[in-house]
Amino acid sequence: MTTIIEQQAGFCFGVVRAINSLEEQLKKDGTLYCIGDVVHNSMEVERLEKKGLKTISLQEFSLLHDCKVMIRAHGEPPSTYETAKRNNITLIDATCPMVLKLQKDVLTGYQDMKQKGGQIVIFGKKGHAEVVGLVGQTDNTAVVVSNEDDVDKIDMAKPLHIFSQTTKNKEDYLNIIALIKSKHKTGDILVTDSICKKVSSRAEKIEEFAKSVDCVLFVSGKHSSNGLYLYNLCKSCNEHTFFITDTQDIDMEKLKKFNTVGISGATSTPMWLMKKTEDFILSQIHS
Ligand code: SF4
Repeated sequence: MTTIIEQQAGFCFGVVRAINSLEEQLKKDGTLYCIGDVVHNSMEVERLEKKGLKTISLQEFSLLHDCKVMIRAHGEPPSTYETAKRNNITLIDATCPMVLKLQKDVLTGYQDMKQKGGQIVIFGKKGHAEVVGLVGQTDNTAVVVSNEDDVDKIDMAKPLHIFSQTTKNKEDYLNIIALIKSKHKTGDILVTDSICKKVSSRAEKIEEFAKSVDCVLFVSGKHSSNGLYLYNLCKSCNEHTFFITDTQDIDMEKLKKFNTVGISGATSTPMWLMKKTEDFILSQIHS
């Protein structure tokens, strides 16, 4: 049996940047708060917590004063910056530059829609940190659409400006846009393509990779939207795709019948975890 780790798999630029900035800060201060999981991968969060990271909720954040707090790559709504100012909190802002740009575009779009009596629509996962940050740019007035049923919440008589969460699937976004257009009364709709290029180009690469191996072990945190999306893509190209969070989920009996085992992961999966997966398989074969 041969194992191959997909070379393009692993952290995206935004997550690498956030983790580098976090590790730098931990080296300096020995401890740092972060609002929510710095990355949707519990193994990586655990590793960083051992170095002094303290993951807190938004509620816990609002009770802090005179300290340093990190904002992860997903970004935060304006209310978080206001709380920090009020409570003398120094923010280590690791919002991904692409998310930051999207927040600005949503804000500009909102100001424009306000003048026209229109509405901002965000295609994304309800409650996801990035979506909360985007909705915050619109004084919490944006309509969040997660699926086709949510489209009925939109006032189809109003002008619309539609954006997407950066990690959504392009095809799903296009389908939602087409559905909204088919129901809209005037067709006064602006659409911004805000899907991260890193995510959409990963889609093509992972499809090629999944087809090139006999089976795929897809390593990801259970709560990663990007992980779920890429896993489903893999599965659609190679039915022998198995989702694992760590080596304890590996079923060696199932793997034994395959010659090439591919290992891949989400944009939130650390490379060390994929290497650990490979080492585990090799040790089981040779034992
Ligand atoms: S997926 Fe793209 S937009 Fe999101 S954090 Fe990574 S690089 Fe930034």
